[in-house]
Amino acid sequence: NKQIILKDYVIGFPKESDMILKTSTIKLKVPEGSNAVLLKNLYLSCDPYMRNRMRKMEGSYVESFTPGSPITGYGVAKVVDSGHPNFKKGDLAWGKTGWEEYSLIPTPEVFFKIGHTDVPLSYYTGILGMPGMTAYVGFYEICSPKKGEYVFISAASGAVGQLVGQFAKLMGCYVVGSAGTKEKVDLLKNKFGFDAAFNYKEDQDLDEALKRYFPNGIDIYFENVGGKMLDAVLLNMRIHGRIAACGMISQYNLERPEGIHNLFCLILKRIRLEGFIVNDYYHLYPKFLDMILPYIKEGKIEYVEDIAEGIERSPAALVGLFSGRNVGKQVVVVAHE
Ligand code: NDP
Repeated sequence: NKQIILKDYVIGFPKESDMILKTSTIKLKVPEGSNAVLLKNLYLSCDPYMRNRMRKMEGSYVESFTPGSPITGYGVAKVVDSGHPNFKKGDLAWGKTGWEEYSLIPTPEVFFKIGHTDVPLSYYTGILGMPGMTAYVGFYEICSPKKGEYVFISAASGAVGQLVGQFAKLMGCYVVGSAGTKEKVDLLKNKFGFDAAFNYKEDQDLDEALKRYFPNGIDIYFENVGGKMLDAVLLNMRIHGRIAACGMISQYNLERPEGIHNLFCLILKRIRLEGFIVNDYYHLYPKFLDMILPYIKEGKIEYVEDIAEGIERSPAALVGLFSGRNVGKQVVVVAHE
């Protein structure tokens, strides 16, 4: 059983060498009388929140990884054996699993049986999984969007951002995204139908860039990066604007987060800034599927994935999120069914 092990807690930017590949043996049966499921992992999801789990944390909504043990995260898997009443051998499911070929999950918690297989299975790591739910909850539940509003999304070409932008377009909003390369900016405009997009690495003066794209200001900011971008956005929000604080990836590798200078704008402009964690909203998953599956099948929503082949490539794929190497949702294929 090939496994990806975290060597030790990480300081600064994570490196491939912080993780090692180990091979061990595993019994392909669940213990007699247990509630466990034994999984054959097919696809693993690389997600920015995993960086936080590489440090020692207490009191967070997720646990730190255990140095010396396999990394855990979201994935798509086939049930090989099950003692759990809700899962049987041969079922396909997505949820929390291990970064290894086979995982024994003692109690499947965030774990959903896959009922629709007429879409790519890897989509359950992205558009039909945790990032899709994040885009859905963040946009519809947190942003209180209305037709015609001005929407800005950072890290817009990623797993979450590309969907938020398309949801906003379907609602009839004006949508602009930022991303870190020309290729991503082109995707935003030409594939995902954003009204405009810019490369935040080239537009050094972010305040000036935002004023160019939003001469009348921003109603909704979907926050994925934090830091300097958030500061510049605060200056450009409209009165009664809403900010969904989804993530702040620019801060995840810093030992001391950057300060935000323009918070007073929250008061001046009566802005609502609300953080959220997708885990609190999984009860909405069936409702989300009812909305998103027809959109996919009717071609109303596009989804771009960046697929790495082989579990050996998962450390590089995960680390690549923090340099922006991924184009779209970063997935690792462990096995094709
Ligand atoms: P992405 O697929 O967007 O991948 C990460 C991207 O972030 C990179 O490709 C890169 O794109 C960008 N990035 C990396 N470093 C920086 C930096 N220093 N400054 C600006 N951009 C940077 O990831 P996801 O779509 O999966 O996640 C997006 C955000 O949503 C993250 O902050 C994540 O933590 C958050 N999240 C929150 C959840 C919640 O429950 N609240 C759940 C899921 C995700 P580029 O080339 O454009 O720089």
